[in-house]
Amino acid sequence: MLCLGGRLHFVAGVAEFHGGWLGRIVARAPESVGFGAMTLGHVIVGIDQATLCALRAHEHAHVWQYEQWGLFFLPAYALSSLWQVVNGHSAHASNFFERQACAMASQAPSQHKFLTKLT
Ligand SMILES: [Zn+2]
Repeated sequence: MLCLGGRLHFVAGVAEFHGGWLGRIVARAPESVGFGAMTLGHVIVGIDQATLCALRAHEHAHVWQYEQWGLFFLPAYALSSLWQVVNGHSAHASNFFERQACAMASQAPSQHKFLTKLT
């Protein structure tokens, strides 16, 4: 992402990339394949800084989930999505890990302290 004009910040031990050419492409992608931010281990990729700030607590909850589940996180995430689809629910919104991340983010302290680190 850095080679494509993106920016990198480290927040609470997590590498956060945002913006640049890739961010603009993903931001214009259809909702079914696009995302505001995505977490892979201790790396978060956001489409831009504002979106990353808005989703930071949620994405850091996913970092915590990666730490708890290790290599089993991605298979467990996929199985949870599959289970929800088989039962007629949304693969993303109803996924156990998404619901847990949303709950953790709603209990997180103000995200403004993270925002000030980036400015
Ligand atoms: Zn999520």
